[in-house]
Amino acid sequence: MGRDDGHEHRSHAPIDEHGEPPLGRRARAIEALLIEKGLLTAAEIRRAIDDLASRSPADGAKLVARAWVDPAFKARLLADPKAATPEFGIDITSHAQLAVLENSPGLHHLVVCTLCSCYPRTLLGPPPAWYKSLDYRSRAVVDPRGVMREFGLELPATVEVRVVDSTADMRYLVLPLRPAGTERLSEEELRALVTRDSMIGVSHPRDPVRV
Ligand code: FE
Repeated sequence: MGRDDGHEHRSHAPIDEHGEPPLGRRARAIEALLIEKGLLTAAEIRRAIDDLASRSPADGAKLVARAWVDPAFKARLLADPKAATPEFGIDITSHAQLAVLENSPGLHHLVVCTLCSCYPRTLLGPPPAWYKSLDYRSRAVVDPRGVMREFGLELPATVEVRVVDSTADMRYLVLPLRPAGTERLSEEELRALVTRDSMIGVSHPRDPVRV
């Protein structure tokens, strides 16, 4: 394009400011300060963001499937998730506290963050939009069974429902019940049954495909 095509380049705003929400600007200011004070490098911050963005429910599913087939691992995972996850190349040591909550035939856990959207991102990736919605955050504590019903999960009245409220300092991962009829499945096949929603507690894992 030539200089006289009428295109006004001066009207272009810098990419890092225009349209960025105030919280984003604040984060950038803090990031710049941390780098300036030598506490972190830009490369370290980029690596941490990349690492977090590459996480997905498949990471959490690895832990669940292993816990289903290996009672010793399950005991370690429940007792100290931070010590158990490095076996899978998942390092959560630098992050907030994390508790793994085991469902049983008589007890079901449902995870919510009533304040905002605290979530075990290191094990599940970014939270789904509904998890962050005011509707879920408010109704999960008032009417957890009604919320689960909307996800297609109807729990018998005999099953106790325990709702846990996540915070910035404490995240939760549900260890769902292993589906019936999966005794002969391999660990890898079991992984495929573990859904994101089952690790939040709004649904059960998938049922195995009958052959
Ligand atoms: Fe939160």
